[in-house]
Amino acid sequence: MYRTCLLKCLKPARNHLPSSSASSTFSTSTMSLFKHKNAKRIEGLDENVWVEFTKLAAEPGVVNLGQGFPDLPPPPYVLEALATAAAGDNFMLNQYTRSFGHPPLVKALADLYGHVCGRSIDPYKDIVVTIGGYGSLSHSILGLVDVGDEVIIIQPFFDCYEPMVKMAGGVPVFISLKPTQERVVGGVGDSGDWVLDRDELASKFNCRTKAIIINTPNNPLGKIFKKEELQVMADLCIQHDVLCISDEVYEWLVFSGHKHVKIATLPGMWERTITIGSAGKAFSVTGWKLGWSVGPEHLIKHLQTVQQNTVYTCCTAIQEAIAQGIRKERGRLKEQDCYFTLLAHELEAKRDRMAKLLLAAGMKPVIPEGGYFIIADISAKDVDLTKMEGDEPYDNKFVKWMIKNKQLAAIPVTSFISDQAKSLYEKYIRFCFIKQDRTLDSAEAILKNWK
Ligand code: PMP
Ligand code: GLN
Repeated sequence: MYRTCLLKCLKPARNHLPSSSASSTFSTSTMSLFKHKNAKRIEGLDENVWVEFTKLAAEPGVVNLGQGFPDLPPPPYVLEALATAAAGDNFMLNQYTRSFGHPPLVKALADLYGHVCGRSIDPYKDIVVTIGGYGSLSHSILGLVDVGDEVIIIQPFFDCYEPMVKMAGGVPVFISLKPTQERVVGGVGDSGDWVLDRDELASKFNCRTKAIIINTPNNPLGKIFKKEELQVMADLCIQHDVLCISDEVYEWLVFSGHKHVKIATLPGMWERTITIGSAGKAFSVTGWKLGWSVGPEHLIKHLQTVQQNTVYTCCTAIQEAIAQGIRKERGRLKEQDCYFTLLAHELEAKRDRMAKLLLAAGMKPVIPEGGYFIIADISAKDVDLTKMEGDEPYDNKFVKWMIKNKQLAAIPVTSFISDQAKSLYEKYIRFCFIKQDRTLDSAEAILKNWK
């Protein structure tokens, strides 16, 4: 009986075997060939920039301006709130909380985003709290994208969008932000000069398009989409009945002269937009891995379905601490001492310092309008990479060379680009500047001595 069943199961699978190994291995080790193989949905997704470059940057003595995380202390009151949540009188904060979000947190988020979006937000129906911004992205894509659906992705894009769409069976359709009339002020470019071609964007929408993923402020470019640019996307979404997944994890990190606009606030967009935020970015606690999606009930309920059937709920004590953080900052949003404002100010000075350093070192920075990354054109750096093995884009080899020979880590920009377009961006690398002055001093010393 068992033997018949086993043979039946193995027969179709045999067609997938590589021809040389098929018959010999079939008789001796059937399990390793058939049952231990990866699911097709993850085929080709085994490489990951963070896994690869975080390991290289962890070598002793390397100054790490690669993966994006602060080495600055988070606001002390948030840390105290977490300590109290875990070890205070209310020991029930160490148990499970509501699946879709701890009530004090969803209430605080509804109040904050209700204020920012100028509408009433239902804490229980319009919000889901997830494991980081990542969780919100994957829940949105898994809950809404079907096999064969097309999803428009604007590149450079945060690297996980493409594999997430593919894992859901969707088809990523890319469009590139390109520098137009690069406004060269002393060799410096501006992220605002990187734009989408309207006609090209329109050509990406069709009856198979399910969603567009946008990211503002953008990682890695630092571009903040202007209202007019968002309006073009919104008009196309409405015209083609397309959803918008708006990744706004750097929403508070906006530099002088710029304004962050939520696409969900444009007419007709609330109904079709999921807006994603991250406590990791807002409060400089990336290791807490807490994020959220905000949107209309008819979309959020699908993310809630994914949540209840995957992770079920997020850490209660962390949600409690972030609820206190959101309430406090909501109460002083317009004031000088609001943490979001203070952090943006602090970062702006670090951005300017970093831009100067890069320029002096012969790299051409593209000044970000927001976020905590700066990209730089490395074309003028004369580095001999011919001895480096492997069929990798230039920026990959450059960063590996830089880590090894200069003890300075960055991230290659082609990590945020689809395969077809990598050659257009391989002369750029990304630096993270949410670092203490001491770390930036070390980077400065390296860049100054780089002859
Ligand atoms: N989106 C973007 C653009 C990001 O840079 C990040 C950084 N990790 C995320 C989403 C994920 O955020 P989190 O760390 O909260 O999962
Ligand atoms: N968002 C951060 C970055 O872009 C970290 C990403 C990650 O660790 N996966 O560097």
